Amino acid sequence: MSLANGRHYFAIPGPSVVPDRVLAAMHRPSPNIYAGELVELTQTIFAGLRRVACSSGHAAIYIANGHGAWEAAISNMFSRGDKALGAITGHFGRGWVEWARRMGIDMETIEFPGSTAIDPARIEEALVADRSHRIRAVLVTHVDTASTVRNDIEAVRAAIDAARHPALLAVDAIASLGCEELLFDAWGIDVLIAASQKGLMLPPGLSFLWFSDKALAASHEANLVTPYWDWKPRSSSAELYRYFAGTAPTHHLYGLREALTMILEEEGLANVWGRHRRLARAVWEAFDTWGEGGDISLNVPDPAARAHAVTSARVGAGGALLLRQWLEAEAGVTLGIGLGMALPTEPAYNDFFRVAHMGHVNSHMTLGVLAAMDAGFKALGIPHGTGALDAAAAALPEGAAK
Ligand SMILES: *Cc1c(COP(=O)(O)O)cnc(C)c1O
Repeated sequence: MSLANGRHYFAIPGPSVVPDRVLAAMHRPSPNIYAGELVELTQTIFAGLRRVACSSGHAAIYIANGHGAWEAAISNMFSRGDKALGAITGHFGRGWVEWARRMGIDMETIEFPGSTAIDPARIEEALVADRSHRIRAVLVTHVDTASTVRNDIEAVRAAIDAARHPALLAVDAIASLGCEELLFDAWGIDVLIAASQKGLMLPPGLSFLWFSDKALAASHEANLVTPYWDWKPRSSSAELYRYFAGTAPTHHLYGLREALTMILEEEGLANVWGRHRRLARAVWEAFDTWGEGGDISLNVPDPAARAHAVTSARVGAGGALLLRQWLEAEAGVTLGIGLGMALPTEPAYNDFFRVAHMGHVNSHMTLGVLAAMDAGFKALGIPHGTGALDAAAAALPEGAAK
């Protein structure tokens, strides 16, 4: 007999939980794509996208997943053979750099150990060394969903400015937009990317780019772009189909309108950020407590460098795999696999996993996952410190000590 029957919860960092309201908004006959409601709705969506990224810049929507957004950003910013600097803090940062290389960009990289954030001094140093200003852009990940490191984007901008370097600042915020504080204008971001299936609480299928006037100007000089990926018609056009280089993603747009209403008009962006911060704190407290009595630890030691939407952790001796299996079979919860921490062929691969607390999640969902994990440790005989749920509960209130 299993205790997993009931509503299954995929506590994985995307696709995240889709609110029933978003699903209901998508459940409709196909709309008119030439005129009327959808055309007007799309304009309000562009306004909402600017607000959710705190951006007064341009925005574009792609019918693509996050990898498509990587490709869109690269193809608009560069010409083949251009040089760029990539700062890597995990599997996804590495992936973006690899994408750029495969598209013919000459990537210089700085790799930071998997559990620490970007050191802005290293960025400054690399840019100062680039005396002829060949580096056209700095590619960074805000939250790397694999290591769950969160980088200080404002500090990266300050490093670029301190080096007096004209490079664009391009940020992958796929795992953080709609979850964590993210200020396109105030942080001096030039190109920002996100996707629908994480903080925006939609099914996969849409991705988004925001770009500054400076990035737009740079795209006029670059020649890598192909018609489908060109962000110019996608950010400003007379007809709806030009925004999407073809048929609009009709139902996704209705879902997105609903999600933006929930975030911007109802809960409020600052409260969305605050909810993720507080849920994250509860998760960290639980892990710290479990770690006091067992081989259990968070991947990122410095709380200031931890993501608020997803947490990567380690349970030694294959415990992460056992716990994931137990939660799926006995609790109706699926946790994320560890990514990029060890090769699938290495025994250590079974020591890593991730808990998402991203998007449409509240305290009973996150505390429920933590309680199920606590039960799993007990059922499996995995040594762990006691009192993790007390610690998580104590960390939850606004203004809690840590
Ligand atoms: C999820 C994610 C991606 C990849 O997105 P896909 O939709 O799977 O292509 C890239 N970067 C980050 C930071 C992500 O979280």
